[in-house]
Amino acid sequence: MQKSVQTRLALLVRHANVFYGKRMPVPKLIFDLRGMTAGQLVSQRITRSKSIYTIRINNQLLERSAQAILTEVLPHEVAHMVVDWVFGKRVKPHGVEWRQVMRECFECEPNRCHQLPTEQVRHHPRRHIYQCDCQEHPFTDRRHRSAMKGSHYICQSCRGTLVFKATLVTD
Ligand SMILES: [Zn+2]
Ligand SMILES: [Zn+2]
Repeated sequence: MQKSVQTRLALLVRHANVFYGKRMPVPKLIFDLRGMTAGQLVSQRITRSKSIYTIRINNQLLERSAQAILTEVLPHEVAHMVVDWVFGKRVKPHGVEWRQVMRECFECEPNRCHQLPTEQVRHHPRRHIYQCDCQEHPFTDRRHRSAMKGSHYICQSCRGTLVFKATLVTD
């Protein structure tokens, strides 16, 4: 089943590259999500303009509802990467740009909630992970923007400076 996900992922990215005239990489795929989350896109910033992408899939859900993972969850997560790549990081995770990618590029209904028994309420689908010397700190969009503009954050425990590591889009 994991192999079908890999194949489908490559097809989706190839299609999006043709559609938008880009050369997006095929994200790394890992099957380590548990519980009620179906999929997650992780974008790790390497340099100011370059990120690497990973899509995390819930393996239990894959075994139970493979079709939903292939036809809903995967395009949903790839669309998050396309939005990042084509429209930049300042747009909302499920805003007009994301819905446009889902509809026009992938010809999917842009449903926010997968037709899977996933969590109902998510107030912050996008989290930015900052790292100090002792732990990871999740930031909201607002706090991340402020950090990007130069605000300095310090860990209460180790007094280390928080450094941006990755953005997670769940749901
Ligand atoms: Zn710390
Ligand atoms: Zn989403």
